[in-house]
Order: sequence, then C-alpha cells, then structure tokens
Amino acid sequence: MENRAEKRRIVLVPVTAQGHVTPMMQLGEALQLKGFSITVAQRQFKQISSSLQHVPGFDFVTILESLPQSESKKVGPAEILMKLNKTSEASFKECISQLLLQQGNDIACIIYDKLMYFCEAAAKEFNLPSVIFSSSSATIQVCYSVLSKLNAEKFLTDMKDPEMQDKVLEGLHPLRYRDLPTSGFGPLETLLEMCREVVNTRTASAIIINTANCLESSSLSRLQQELEISVYPLDPLHITASLPGPSLLQEDMSCVGWLNKQKPRSVIYISLGSKAHMETKELLEMAWGLANSNQPFLWVFRPGSILGSNGIESLPEEISKMVSERGYIVKWAPQIEVLGHPAVGGFWSHCGWNSILESISEGVPMICRPFQGEQKLNAMYVESVWRIGIQVGGEVERGGVERDVKRLMMDEEGADMRERALDLKEKLKASVRSGGSSYNASTSCIIRIIRMNTHTKC
Ligand code: UDP
Repeated sequence: MENRAEKRRIVLVPVTAQGHVTPMMQLGEALQLKGFSITVAQRQFKQISSSLQHVPGFDFVTILESLPQSESKKVGPAEILMKLNKTSEASFKECISQLLLQQGNDIACIIYDKLMYFCEAAAKEFNLPSVIFSSSSATIQVCYSVLSKLNAEKFLTDMKDPEMQDKVLEGLHPLRYRDLPTSGFGPLETLLEMCREVVNTRTASAIIINTANCLESSSLSRLQQELEISVYPLDPLHITASLPGPSLLQEDMSCVGWLNKQKPRSVIYISLGSKAHMETKELLEMAWGLANSNQPFLWVFRPGSILGSNGIESLPEEISKMVSERGYIVKWAPQIEVLGHPAVGGFWSHCGWNSILESISEGVPMICRPFQGEQKLNAMYVESVWRIGIQVGGEVERGGVERDVKRLMMDEEGADMRERALDLKEKLKASVRSGGSSYNASTSCIIRIIRMNTHTKC
C-alpha cells in the first residue's frame, strides 16, 4: 500500500547580522504558519544569538567554528567570509547529523543565506534538499554574477577608461560597470573569488530573494535566465510577518510618544542601520544642516556608530543642545513602526536593502547616504529607477544637507517623490495579497519544498 510521508522540519542558516537575520526569521515564521517546524542553526555570535532565542516556537542549534578572533581582524570582509565557510563546513555536517538522529530523519530542507554556502556540503552528504536565501536585492545577485566572470587585472585596467566606466550592463539600464559593488570587501581579486563561491548554486534547487517583481522585474528575469534553478521573489517579508523579528539592540519605544506630538509628515527619520559608521565631521555638518532646515528629526545614534566619539554626549555642547532641542535621539528605534508613523515624512538612510524595503512599504521617500558598494547601488535605484529619493554624493556639508532636507520635505519635487513612493507601496501590498506575484511565488516555493521530499513508501 502506498503511504506518503512528509518531512516537516526546515533548518534555517542565517548570517548572524541584523540585516540578514531579520528577513530569514520572517521567512521562518511564514513557513511555520504553513505547518513546518523550524530549527535555526546559528554561528556563535553572542549579541544576536541571545535576541534570536526570543523567536517563539523555533528551535536553535549552534554551529561551532574554529576561526580565531585574531585571524578575522587581519583580513578584509570577503576573505573572512571565505575562511568562515571553510571552518564551518565540518561542524555544520556534525550539526545536521545530530539533528537527523534526534528528529528521526525529519528534515525537509536546509535553507541557507547565500553567504553561508558551506551548508551545501552537508546537504549533499546527507542527501537533503537545499534552497538558497538572499536577503539583498536581485540586482545585487546579478552584479555578483557579473563580477564572478571578470578578471581582476583586466577589470582594473578597463575601469581607467571613462567610456568603459559608463558602459551600461546589458539589459540592466541604468546600471553601469562603474556601479558594480566592489568597495568595502577588501582586494578586488578576493571579492571576485567570493562572488564565484556565492553565485555557485551547487546542489540547491531554488533561490528565494527578499524582493518583489514590481521593484526589480528586469534583474529577476535576468537571474531566472542565468540560473538553472527556480527564482522565488517572496516579497518584502516583513509585510506579511506578524513579528518584527529579533532586534540587535533594545528598541527605544519612547520615540513613538515624541512622534505622536509632531505634525503629520514633518519629521525626518535618520538611521545608518546596524553596521555603518560616520565620521564626527560628517555628523557635525549633518547636525548643522538639519538645524538650519528647521525640520524636526528623529535620529538613531547606535553605540559605536560615530567614529572618534563616544556618542552624542561627547559632542560639542552647542551641537548636543541644538540636536536635543529640535530632534529626538535614540540608540535604536522600532524602525518599521517609526516609518509607518503619520508624523514621519522622510528617511535619511544608509540604504541597506531592508531599510529600503521598509521605507517603500510605508511610502516614505528617502535621502540616501550610502557608505559601501551594495548600499550605493541600492541608492542609485532609489534615486534613478524608482525616483523616490535624493542621493547625497561626495562630502556631506551643512548647506547641502539643508537644501536636500528642504527639497524632500517641503518642495514639490519631494511631494512627487512621496507620490511615487506611495504608488510603490500599493504595488507591494498588492503583490502579497492573494493572486499577487509574491503571494504566488510563495505558494509555488512551499509546494516545491513539500514535493522535494514527499516520498513514497511501500
Ligand atoms: N533597524 C532597527 N532600528 C534601528 C535601525 C535599524 O530596527 O534603529 C533595523 C531596520 O529595520 C532593518 C535593519 O535594522 O531591518 C537594518 O538592515 P539594513 O539591511 O537596512 O542594513 P544593515 O544593518 O544590514 O546595514
């Protein structure tokens, strides 16, 4: 007699950093609602691991790694990542072997962050289906693919030619060669090697991307053409999640009370995300520019986010006085709630992908101040593709800050950006509703996971 046995446990392997872990936990929540049990396999990383444990109903296991702390200080991010992948492979295999023993063979699938490609070796060894998860944009994934095919020496020579710099990447207007995200990872050659590893799908059968068709249709079609596996743009996952996701720092809810006292769409919200740093000089220029614009602001000063300063308390007295008179300062904000607050009219952002999705989902236009490669590319999309923001280029100086804030918050130009942002918000909402593109992708993806391991027994 035939008997269909369904495996119901999914192992999630996030990168333990805020911008990666939040959407993966939201994906876990969506899968849990469809009846899967979730085990999160995380690397040791104290700060975030303890906040992760608060996700209700998930199990947690730790992947032991042997990369010494001192080692990671000597090299750039691309090299650290590759070393981590090497040193985590054996312990992840051990982790999966233990889980299979404990769970009676009940693992439906391993879903791993695209940067955690060491997972594939365990999937192969234990003959388990695997799916890649990307918490950044589809366009970044396409860029990684372009970079993976380049020769470092030739690219560096080509980039000395202005015509080559401005050459548009085929089918990806307005993306030019000079926009490829090459900064912030260490030497180019190492970055290209990392890209080769990251775009290699190995035995994975699909890739889930935290984006929506209405935002990146050409990059998504390009990816679908290039990859031999299915591409599922599942939406901005936070729209459908009931929980905001684990938070790196304690959210200061007092800012909501302050926002309640402000006029509709009058406040500019400022945040650099979880990793970016700002020089004290830039901070002072921003503070003066904001003061001169006369616009109220809510500013996140994450501990350690201002280089060469212990935070707002150690700034010159006139600046801290001015900042606390016109603005409200927190160490970490409930960002999604803040962006959805009627008093917020603009977002000064470092342009991390999650921040962009969260801003668009609330119809909030942006001032973009990106710091590294991926963020610069995201900022370019905000300004030139969706036309919902202004990019601050070069050095930040008070006159420019005042002008940009006024353009966004008071001018007709800013009102047009807001209108386009609100239009995109509606499109995103429609994409997650029944019959929408993200809703359909999510359904197909879940059916795929179920089919991958619903097997027949005699
Ligand atoms: N975030 C937050 N409170 C803050 C600042 C940021 O909750 O005060 C969250 C934000 O909602 C987003 C994440 O931190 O989900 C940052 O991710 P993003 O991809 O924007 O940038 P990253 O931190 O990876 O550079």
